[in-house]
Amino acid sequence: MSFTSDGGLKISFDRGTVAVPPAGRISVTLPKATVTPFLSDFGSRAQHQTTHPGGKLDLGATETPAQTVTAQPDPGKDTTNCSKVKCIALTFDDGPAVPYTGTLLEYLAQYKARATFFVVGQNVATHPEVVRAEMKSGHEVGNHSWNHPVLTNLSSAQIRSQLERTTAAIKAATGQEPTLFRPPYGAIDGKVRAVTSLSPVLWTVDTEDWKYPNAAKVAQSVISQAKADGVVLIHDIHATSVAAVPEILRTLTAQGYHFVTVSHLRATL
Ligand code: ZN
Repeated sequence: MSFTSDGGLKISFDRGTVAVPPAGRISVTLPKATVTPFLSDFGSRAQHQTTHPGGKLDLGATETPAQTVTAQPDPGKDTTNCSKVKCIALTFDDGPAVPYTGTLLEYLAQYKARATFFVVGQNVATHPEVVRAEMKSGHEVGNHSWNHPVLTNLSSAQIRSQLERTTAAIKAATGQEPTLFRPPYGAIDGKVRAVTSLSPVLWTVDTEDWKYPNAAKVAQSVISQAKADGVVLIHDIHATSVAAVPEILRTLTAQGYHFVTVSHLRATL
């Protein structure tokens, strides 16, 4: 979509979306009087900018964009043997989120800790560079559906679409397909299992971090419930959850834990 110089809204459709493919790209232009009543505040500001170019551009952003996420050094091949030492798998759901995920990657790197990120497909499409950085930093990326529905409420075709779109987005971002998935809300049944070859991953510790924006409490929740070979559910979309991670890493490292990916934990148990 784009505004015309007189304030109309031009909408272009890709080839094959609203007409037969040979018709090519289709564009329609709605006059200013038609579209103006339907514009959001953001849309009104964008329209004003095109009809009065050269003014101060104010699209109403409340946050300045984060700097680019940089991958951390990959600690290399993981030789941790979880049948001999105490392992734990930290998992971070619902991202990637800017800027929290980038900060989290820095914290994990300080302890050479590996984690597993269960990413939401539509967020992968928005921030593929963050998912690429997760992978390049030595972490595992798993599938957490396209837009976080209760999969058990969907048809088999819808479930397949949720998972396949997300796998494709992860592959596009990282070059690799995931092998794991985490069903949103832990909702899984035979129908969900039947449509995918991805291996489901639930958790042994739920921080319930979305309930309380309190880093100390999130850290305490993980530390008090940690057990060898546990799988911990945290969300990297909350600033306070990411802020809890240094304390988690410091305390559990002192207790002798090794931080491994879910696939590594499963492979070496
Ligand atoms: Zn989730």
